[in-house]
Amino acid sequence: MRFLVKSSILCDQTIIMKNYAFSLLLLTGFIANAQKKTIVNPTDKLKTRALQNIQQNYDAYKKTALQIWDYAELGYKEQKSSALLQQVLKDNGFNVEAGVAEIPTAFVATYGSGKPVIAILAEYDALPGLAQEAVPEKKEIAGKNAGHGCGHHLFGTASVAAGIEIKKLIEEKKFTGTIKIFGCPAEEGGSGKVYMVRAGLFNDVDVAIHWHPGDENSVLMTSALANSSAKFRFKGLSAHASMAPEKGRSSLDAVEAMNYMVNMMREHVPQETRIHYVITSGGKAPNVVPDYAEVYYYVRHPKREQVKLIFDRVVNAAKGAAMGTETSMEYEIIGGTHDILLNRALAEAMQKNLEKTGGVKYTSEEIEFAKKIQSSFSSKPPMISSADSIIKLKAVMDAGGGSTDVGDVSYAVPTVGMDAATWVPGTPAHSWQAVACGGTEIGTKGMMVAAKTMALTAIDLFTDPALINKAREEFIKAKGDYKYEALLGNRKPALNYRD
Ligand SMILES: [Zn+2]
Repeated sequence: MRFLVKSSILCDQTIIMKNYAFSLLLLTGFIANAQKKTIVNPTDKLKTRALQNIQQNYDAYKKTALQIWDYAELGYKEQKSSALLQQVLKDNGFNVEAGVAEIPTAFVATYGSGKPVIAILAEYDALPGLAQEAVPEKKEIAGKNAGHGCGHHLFGTASVAAGIEIKKLIEEKKFTGTIKIFGCPAEEGGSGKVYMVRAGLFNDVDVAIHWHPGDENSVLMTSALANSSAKFRFKGLSAHASMAPEKGRSSLDAVEAMNYMVNMMREHVPQETRIHYVITSGGKAPNVVPDYAEVYYYVRHPKREQVKLIFDRVVNAAKGAAMGTETSMEYEIIGGTHDILLNRALAEAMQKNLEKTGGVKYTSEEIEFAKKIQSSFSSKPPMISSADSIIKLKAVMDAGGGSTDVGDVSYAVPTVGMDAATWVPGTPAHSWQAVACGGTEIGTKGMMVAAKTMALTAIDLFTDPALINKAREEFIKAKGDYKYEALLGNRKPALNYRD
């Protein structure tokens, strides 16, 4: 444009001037062209190609994700889901090691060799009691119990898709290094990744990338609550509850006494504490004094040191309850996860890639679906069009309300994550609405935002060693002299925690 204006001004000059100007123009054009050639960023070229490639395979990834949505397998029982993702990775040239960290459904898929080693985390477990059709009103699936209320079918598939794109680039020698997809089972309360960290599987990894399905597109600058969970089991004496009550000792009384004490304790714990429980066993009949009862507890706080202190007090309440009811008590630690150590350097890089990728555009049918979903909410939801926008990177981190075993990974290696809008804006996690959205293209299109953004971020890491160094320095500073110790101690994976 600028050249055209210049040449039109020159039209009024003498022939000599015109010729001079013409030569100048040619020369300027030549220089500009030469400059253009040198400033084409090779990384940008790889990114543009990655965006196209991943999109081209949308149908295949959609099929994989919806298949896992349909399997909806619970933590540590994700045999079919894990096998499917492993197969897709094998078909694409990855070397898959299955059954790592003494977990049958965990795997590490590797391609390439040498440094850097970039990990992408994949999850695929479902939640109990959330079976739901892919329709915008509550409709359970007959004969089915579990559902993907946290969108982990999308999680696993997007991570595999990103990994496959990186593998192609390594194969074509666009850069060197190793890409690893970590198949992480039982995120929902099973602490799968904790065992994988404990087993040293992340020891050679430089950076870990993850994401989570959500109702917006944003880079994660929110940490998580550290969490300890345990099942408390009480044993008493059975007796006829009416004819010989004095001969019985009720284990259910013990559970109730424990809960009562813990509920009073709520007044005397730090403000940010979260304690929740469910009674998983409380006897079978009112006329039988129950000789066995079980209560399952979570204790959470932004700081793991606080979680340890509060958890010990909950154990004391259990001991007191057993003593007072003349029952016996033992407890089993089920899970334990760290808060998330955030990494600003990596988050900034990921933010740029998320903005390059863009959000999720709904078709007119999807807008109708979204309106129906939103009409089921109790509070005013965000605009449906917000699924197509990108949230600005938060200036400061905060603690957040959930917990995740990604926290333990973030204490092993610099870690970065994001959310993608796979659910209609306003949809809470662990809801029938989340399951419904996850079974539609609203979910699978959101999944593609994550797959693309993670692939682009991995490209940055493979092509820019300075970014890895910066992330590493920040990680070392933030971690300080803390020596990682799993909150769940040295227990073996709780493979039957969903039984
Ligand atoms: Zn989740």
